[in-house]
Amino acid sequence: MIFDIKKMITEQNLVQPKILENNHIVTDVLRLDKINAIASGNKLFKLKVPLQKALENKCTTIITKGGLYSNHLIATAYTCNIAGLRSVGVIKAHKPINLNTTLLDCVEYGMELIFMQPSDFNNIEKLKDCVADYRNSCWIDMGGYSTEGAEGCKEILSLIDSQLYTHIITAVGTGTTLAGLCLAASKHQKIIGISSMKNNFSLQEAIEGLLQDKMHDPFELIHDFHFGGFAKHPPALIDFMNDFYRKHQIPTDIVYTGKLFYAVNFLLENNYFPNNSKLLIVHTGGLQGNRSLPKHTLIF
Ligand SMILES: *Cc1c(COP(=O)(O)O)cnc(C)c1O
Repeated sequence: MIFDIKKMITEQNLVQPKILENNHIVTDVLRLDKINAIASGNKLFKLKVPLQKALENKCTTIITKGGLYSNHLIATAYTCNIAGLRSVGVIKAHKPINLNTTLLDCVEYGMELIFMQPSDFNNIEKLKDCVADYRNSCWIDMGGYSTEGAEGCKEILSLIDSQLYTHIITAVGTGTTLAGLCLAASKHQKIIGISSMKNNFSLQEAIEGLLQDKMHDPFELIHDFHFGGFAKHPPALIDFMNDFYRKHQIPTDIVYTGKLFYAVNFLLENNYFPNNSKLLIVHTGGLQGNRSLPKHTLIF
């Protein structure tokens, strides 16, 4: 095994109990953000199996792509560094004059960066051209979308006594993490995903594709808490995140977990969950992305 996530965990207990209490509903948080500040949260789980496979297939270089503040890129750089793999990140941006803190971290972990203008970013031929020189390379999709990624995310629920919960709720980008939770959960547990993108209805099929015939009872995707779109963060979201931190000392990020906790709070207030539900909210990390904000926007 290239890296043992359980050994990376220094916290005794990753579950922060009983926040947002309401009408006999228990709401616990699984703090994956506490595992590792750099390659935080779910990304370690998503990358573990793909990197293992890459090593087995004698790949020496991992190529992937992402945006300027991508948690996926930084986690790929970090984990490839541990695994002894060369990493290449294709960035959706014109080459900036100064690298931001996320990209500087990527470089520090040995990632080579290639910049591609946004209009070319989804052009497969151009992408192939710009990475053609890398031999023995393996490709990891944007955001780590893959069945192997979902396989690795099964381990998330094994960190705790997850059978206690009736509902497991996570933020969703590609849906790979949610697919892993579905694969690991029992039939009595309902899996709910809060999409961070606007009207990304193709998610349903994308996740079913990861589950294939190992279909869990249907998962539920909620599309109402994107706050205008991916990475959009109007003042209402920032205010909520600051407030939430004051109340619970849980830091959240503007892309995923801020919206996740906002959604759960809203759903609780609107009696969405039956009485006596026990919710497990998976904090998937990603806090480094907040570095895109002006200083002092957040109080944590
Ligand atoms: C990447 C990321 C997600 C999305 O995970 P998917 O498996 O792509 O759905 C959720 N939360 C955080 C903090 C992330 O960095």
